[in-house]
Amino acid sequence: PLRDASGAIEGILLHGVDVTERKRAEEKLREADRRKDEFLAMLAHELRNPLAPITNAIQVFRGKGPPEPEFQWATEVIDRQVHQMTRLIDDLLDVSRITRGKIELRKERVDLSSVVKSAVEASQPLITKRGHVLNVTIPLRTIRLNADPTRLAQVLLNLLNNAAKYTNQGGRIWVSTDVEGDHVLIRVKDTGIGIPAEMVPKIFDLFTQVDGSSERSEGGLGIGLTLVKNLVEMHDGTVDVRSTGVGHGSEFMVRLPILVETPSAASADQNVPAQASAAARRILVVDDNQDSAESLAMVLKIGGNETHIAYDGLEAVEAAEVFRPDVILLDIGLPKLNGYDAARRIRAETWGKSMVLVALTGWGQDEDRQKSREAGFNAHVVKPVDHAVLTTLLASLSKP
Ligand code: ADP
Repeated sequence: PLRDASGAIEGILLHGVDVTERKRAEEKLREADRRKDEFLAMLAHELRNPLAPITNAIQVFRGKGPPEPEFQWATEVIDRQVHQMTRLIDDLLDVSRITRGKIELRKERVDLSSVVKSAVEASQPLITKRGHVLNVTIPLRTIRLNADPTRLAQVLLNLLNNAAKYTNQGGRIWVSTDVEGDHVLIRVKDTGIGIPAEMVPKIFDLFTQVDGSSERSEGGLGIGLTLVKNLVEMHDGTVDVRSTGVGHGSEFMVRLPILVETPSAASADQNVPAQASAAARRILVVDDNQDSAESLAMVLKIGGNETHIAYDGLEAVEAAEVFRPDVILLDIGLPKLNGYDAARRIRAETWGKSMVLVALTGWGQDEDRQKSREAGFNAHVVKPVDHAVLTTLLASLSKP
């Protein structure tokens, strides 16, 4: 207020700052950030596609009886490296989903020890390769959590793999779980290189690496711990790290709420899935990527099935009518007619009602699964296809 000599208000003073430029700059930054996230998502998605035919081709090698030693060696190298690449790309895909708020948990009632067991199993090859000794302590009483078992195992596997990676050959790693009131504390501890004090507050940030240039034998992208933190927080938990400095090992601590059992939840045990059985079926494989289609068909053929291939949606519908398969493995992104529409057309025919339709796609979000269901698919499998998963699925869906 502006006052006259007597103190009475005679006007007001307004002060303005033009923030147009600043707002524009902020908007541009946000836009660039959003595009980067989208780019990462697309990059990961595109990088995944070539992995399916490579994995199939390895299966074909394996199906050809005892090979020459050099041949076997080469097969194992490709297999291991493709595995490693799949892991990196999956992390990249996950982190891009997290930054865009697109990750979904499939929470269920899980037994903590089974999650720890599966993570330990998966980490075993690296731990053995690096000559570490691993000690696992699990409490005698059953600890149940309301959690996504796959994601939780991913959290522990990341911590275990890091412990193995950042510990010099022949170290020690401990995994322990302890009940603390209504929480469980999971600890992953190693005798490794440790984390410098100034890095501790930043270690869970995206793309953070203590020494990105170091000659580490098992490379990474600096994504793992960001995933760990986000996934733990999505489970209403926390993760912390303790390190007494370089050379003194590290300890990661994950705290998660224990599930309070209600009698009805305790009796709702899952059914045991049907046993996988190898048996001959007529299978139509549809994929516009020729390598993907042919390699998958070849793997299925080696497994004793009769196969036929189509490379676009229209061809798929025609082949389904002529070949009359028991099962159709149908890609979604297809030329001429996409997989959803092809499935709808097949389902509309009398001969197509009882065929088993499996969507094979790079997209595995809930909305994608929903779309597949609506188009008439019996199942939805994310590429690259895990052969054990496919075999089990075929056994559960169709009689040979
Ligand atoms: P990446 O392992 O791909 O680099 P992470 O996000 O898993 O990415 O880890 C980030 C960084 O944290 C690593 O590069 C490493 O410097 C450090 N780090 C993680 N775990 C450990 C550990 N157990 N001991 C020492 N340093 C670790």
